[in-house]
Order: sequence, then structure tokens, then C-alpha cells
Amino acid sequence: MLLETVIGLEIHAELKTNTKIFCSCSTEFGAKPNENTCPICLGIPGTLPVLNEEVVNLAVKAGRAVNCEINNYNKMDRKNYFYPDLTKNYQTSQYDLPMCVNGKVTFNYEGKEVSVRINRIHIEEDAGKLVHLEDEPVSLIDYNRAGVPLVEIVTEPDLRSPGEAAAFMRELKGILEYAEISDCRMEQGSIRCDANISIRPYGSEEYGTKVEIKNINSFREVQKALEKEEKRQKELYQFGEEYKIKQETRRWDASKAKTLPMRSKEEAHDYRYFPEPDLTPIIIPQEKVDELEKSLPEMPIEKRARFVSEYGLSEKDASIIISSKTLAKFYEEVVGLGGNPKTVSNYILGDLLRMLNANNMEPEDIKISPKNFVSLLKIIESGKISNTAGKEVFKEMFETDKDPEVIIEEKGLSQISCSDEIEKLVDKVLSDNPKSIEDFKAGKTQAVGYLMGQVMKASKGKANPPVAKQMIEEKLSKM
Ligand code: ADP
Ligand code: ZN
Ligand code: MG
Repeated sequence: MLLETVIGLEIHAELKTNTKIFCSCSTEFGAKPNENTCPICLGIPGTLPVLNEEVVNLAVKAGRAVNCEINNYNKMDRKNYFYPDLTKNYQTSQYDLPMCVNGKVTFNYEGKEVSVRINRIHIEEDAGKLVHLEDEPVSLIDYNRAGVPLVEIVTEPDLRSPGEAAAFMRELKGILEYAEISDCRMEQGSIRCDANISIRPYGSEEYGTKVEIKNINSFREVQKALEKEEKRQKELYQFGEEYKIKQETRRWDASKAKTLPMRSKEEAHDYRYFPEPDLTPIIIPQEKVDELEKSLPEMPIEKRARFVSEYGLSEKDASIIISSKTLAKFYEEVVGLGGNPKTVSNYILGDLLRMLNANNMEPEDIKISPKNFVSLLKIIESGKISNTAGKEVFKEMFETDKDPEVIIEEKGLSQISCSDEIEKLVDKVLSDNPKSIEDFKAGKTQAVGYLMGQVMKASKGKANPPVAKQMIEEKLSKM
């Protein structure tokens, strides 16, 4: 039986605010446990929340960045459940009137355009973090994260493979980063994903029973967890045992590379949602929405298209450069100062990314100034140094951002273009290699290449290749 995979994602992203959603505690990551807490985010009875306006601004921007309609009138609700990381025994969230609805994200995956509908985006508070120390008989709780603002972005079940789901996550991360809505630091948990997956016979209109996988915290793991669960469900289907697929929540155990049952799925009524009585409804005038939308920068998909049309880059190269906002900015600065778009892209995609990876660095750590980068490219173009020497200078610039002229001087890398000097070298190589001259006369033109190699070697790589080649050919033709 031909089977189709159906995937929908629920993504939580921490909003980039200085303070928490209902109090003025700092949201800074990495503070001492429970340092960033107060009676409000600790849920002490009698305290009252005050909504942080910046949360509304960022959530509206997120909504418009993924083409959602904004509900000008929306409200907060209580989602009730008991867990030790939740001080109030309810999470202040949004239920039937979320801030944003009916969006759409379009991106390219393996050469085809994929469109994913966004069901809703709502705002809510994060919970604290339980810490289970090895061999300790108790668990610890850190409430620093309690009350950190989140958006939950819920897609429709429009994704059709684990790879497509991971690509969507990357695209969304790019959008949130570009618009400065979230830091999206996966290793700090500032963007997290629950993935829902089901299988159905190909061509069927109805959805199969879905399983929700929680606890996934990297793009690679999203794909791996979904691939594992896809395989498990497809196998049950193939043996006619699909009734065994239960609607449940499974946990992804990255170390075992397995999904494990966690609990049967709760229904909305289990949470006894009701309107939050301590907060007024949120009213966002349309002018405010328009103003926030205007403040959005160019989105990744637009930038990619522009890099292709304006700079003549391939889709693939443009995608890599724009995958980091910082790298894209760096690229445009270098090109803006007169760097050849294709050459700059080659340097970035080759040497620069390799060096960043090798040193475990991010584009934010690039030291090379666009000005020095362009000077280097101009020097290479002028023929003063060879391409090979250029790479050596680039490596040194990566480490120190010294002026390339200074590096060339220090390392003695200047190319010999002066024909007198090259002529001496050519004459010496010709007199040392009579066999090659005979080969050339006998019609073996490869001899020129060999002689070139000898001249370059004799000059320690500093002879200007086109000048040397021309001179060798001239001399040979007269012999
Ligand atoms: P629930 O009521 O169980 O929370 P929702 O309809 O609210 O389910 O959807 C939650 C998430 O699960 C959404 O991201 C949605 O796209 C996804 N989803 C819903 N049905 C399926 C399905 N049959 N297969 C895969 N994903 C699904
Ligand atoms: Zn607080
Ligand atoms: Mg739901």
C-alpha cells in the first residue's frame, strides 16, 4: 500500500524582551537559579499580573511576518494543570481568541515550493525548569524561566515528510531572527518544537491517528525523531496493525534515538480553560498593527530572491548566505564597497565558512572588516599577489583583521610581475630543461605547463602566472 506521511508542528519561541510577560523580572539566560524571580512569577496569591506591551508588539510582528490576520480583540485564558514547574497551577495562555490566525509560510525544499498554513499564533508564559541531578534523591526547580514570554506557532498538518518539517523549522527560525522577534538559540531552548505525525493511505482525504512527539531541541533531532516515528507507524500499517497507533504523546529520547510513550494525549477539556480574570482583553488598533508591520525588515525568502536577481548568485549559494542574517549583512557590506558579487560569495562559501566551522565560530564572530576584505580582492585583481597567496592573506585576516598590505609586506608575498626578473627565471628554467624544449618542438604542447610549473617553483610561487606563461611561449616559438 502506498502511504502518505502527514505532519503538523507546534513551535514555541521565546520572545526577545528584556523583562518577563507579567512582571519586571529579567529574562536574561544563565542567571543563578531563582535569581530572576518575584512574587508575581512565583505565583504568590494576591499578586496581580501586568501585561508587557513589548510582548504584544513582537507577537503581532511574528503574526504579520507569517501572513497572519491579527485579532484586534483577543484575550488571555487560564490553562489549568498541576506540575511543580508551574507555580500558579495554571498557565496564562490564549485559548479561543488567539492574537494571530490564518497565516502562511512558503519556502523551497528540494527544488519545489512548499506552502504551510499557520493555524494560529498565541502568546503565553513559559514554565520553570526541573533539574534532576544525577544520584540526588530530590529534584531541584529553577523558576528563572517562569513567566518568560512565548509565542506558540501552530501549523496546519501540511507537511509531508520529516525533511520538509525540518526545512520548515529552519525557514521559520530565519523569519523570527530576521524580524528580531526571538533569538532562536536552540541550545538554550529559546525555540522548541512538538511534532505531530500520522500516516494515511495515499490519496485518502481523511487524516490518520496522530502521535505527538515532545522534547525535541534541534533541527537534526526534529528530522530524526519524525523519521523514527514515521517508520514505526508505517510498519504497523504494512502489517495491518494500524489500529495499534494510539493518539498519544511520546517523548523523544535523543540518546536512545527512540520515541517512547509518555502519556495518552490530553483533550482541551482536561485543562478546564477559562478567561483570565486578572487581565483585561487585549485591544490592538489596526493603526498599531500597520505600524508594526511597516517596521518589519526584508524577510529571508525576499532576500534570497533579491540576492539571486541582484548579485547573480545561484539559489543554493544565496540560500546559504541568507541563512544567517549577520552573514547576509556582511556579504552586502563587502559588495557595497566594490567587491565583485561572485568572488565575494566564493570567498564566503569556501574559505570563510570552513574557517568558522573549524573554529566553532558563528558569523557574529567574524573579525574581518568589509573594508579590508575589499582591499584584498582589489590587490589580487591587480596581480600584485597570486590567488594562492591571497588565500594565505585571507586566513591571516580572519585571525587578526590586519590590513592586507601589511600582511603581504610581512610575509613577502608580493608577486613578481617585473618582466626582467621573470625573464631571468624563464631563461634559467629553459636552459635546465632541454628535453622539454625538444618535446615542445615535437608538438607536445603540455611541455609549456611543465615549464610553467618550474618557473613558479623557482620563484617560490611569486611569479605572475600570465606574464610567465606568455614569456615561455614567446621564447619557445623562437627556438
Ligand atoms: P489537538 O486538538 O490534539 O491539539 P489540533 O488539531 O489542535 O490537535 O492540532 C495540533 C497539531 O497537530 C497541529 O500542529 C496540527 O497541524 C497537528 N495535527 C492535527 N492533526 C494531525 C494529523 N492527523 N496528523 C499530523 N498532524 C496533525
Ligand atoms: Zn517576576
Ligand atoms: Mg490543539
